Amino acid sequence: MNDMTKIERDVRMTDTKITARDVNVFYGDTHAIKDVNVDIADKSVTAFIGPSGCGKSTFLRCLNRMNDTIDVCRVTGHIKMDDQDINDKSIDPVQLRAQVGMVFQKPNPFPKSIYDNVAYGPKIHGLARTKADMDNIVEASLRRAAIWNEVKDRLDAPGTGLSGGQQQRLCIARAVATAPEVLLMDEPCSALDPIATAQIEELIDELRQQFSVVIVTHSMQQAARVSQKTAFFHLGNLVEFNDTDQIFTNPQDPRTESYITGRIG
Ligand code: ADP
Repeated sequence: MNDMTKIERDVRMTDTKITARDVNVFYGDTHAIKDVNVDIADKSVTAFIGPSGCGKSTFLRCLNRMNDTIDVCRVTGHIKMDDQDINDKSIDPVQLRAQVGMVFQKPNPFPKSIYDNVAYGPKIHGLARTKADMDNIVEASLRRAAIWNEVKDRLDAPGTGLSGGQQQRLCIARAVATAPEVLLMDEPCSALDPIATAQIEELIDELRQQFSVVIVTHSMQQAARVSQKTAFFHLGNLVEFNDTDQIFTNPQDPRTESYITGRIG
């Protein structure tokens, strides 16, 4: 990636990684997502914003089929990643979730060592042939998540003993360890203090060099700081999707304007 010229990077930024068409989501009778169409760019950060309950997390969970795990949830429409329909019968959802990693609101390391938290995914997906291979994956993942220097001398210590911000970076290391192409983040900073939040935001900006990142956030300031594209959801509709600076400086829909100026939500 570092060998690429700026022009090559800019061209790649416009590549589409995920295409969603006519996506609807129902929880029993609740129609939570209504006819959503969106293209998610590669090597770029896309933010989902909107008032609580508007469907941001629900739509995010469509992108790695996490909604499959909710009994009452039904998803219709088409979602393609690199032209492959992710809901096709041939797709193994466990494999898909290795390709489309996820980081949650509350850091949730396994009750295992720091090393084993990161090694878990590569182990179940058979990504390391030898102990040395695994050591390399663990180190590279912890480096990518900007936490290697803080934990390299205590890889055998429990992940749950780290601070909240460190735990969240450990969870990011765990997500990147399976060599995903997309990283989904569902309010990844909402349980963190301002310093840990700033570290994660800086990390997100680095991660976009390698991944397509999609972040749900209730913070408009955070969306403005970290994302290149922003999608505004309201009552299950994707009201507006555009370059982040356009959404915040020149919104086209009155509902977007009301939200960003603090009149709704
Ligand atoms: P947001 O992330 O924007 O706060 P959600 O995606 O969590 O919104 O919720 C969208 C709608 O779907 C809400 O009406 C919410 O109550 C409903 N919902 C979310 N999760 C579930 C669930 N597991 N079961 C039933 N309804 C749900």
